[in-house]
Amino acid sequence: MARRIRQRAAVGILGKFITRRSRGRCELCGGREGLRLWELPPFPEEPDPDNTLLTCARCRGWLESERVDSLEARFLSGSVWSELTAVREATRRLLTATPVDDPWVRDALEVLG
Ligand SMILES: [Zn+2]
Repeated sequence: MARRIRQRAAVGILGKFITRRSRGRCELCGGREGLRLWELPPFPEEPDPDNTLLTCARCRGWLESERVDSLEARFLSGSVWSELTAVREATRRLLTATPVDDPWVRDALEVLG
């Protein structure tokens, strides 16, 4: 995994808002381990909550490396229904990165359109 997506410190200004929005849980899987904000690249000029989500260490690792453990990632078929733009977009990127051509991946991507 040579390529890793970098984050920027400016995203910190969204901390309070997104912590409240997420109720202190990963907005993808609901986990609580190593929570941190994740801004989806390309970054807008100012950090935008519609482009940022709270992620646990595992989900962030997937977003960072653009690689997913397809067995662990099945919960993504639920996050396609999120009302949050950032969660749907992160889900789409992770599903696209999922190396297997499973029916659930195809179905989930179809929901996202
Ligand atoms: Zn997570």
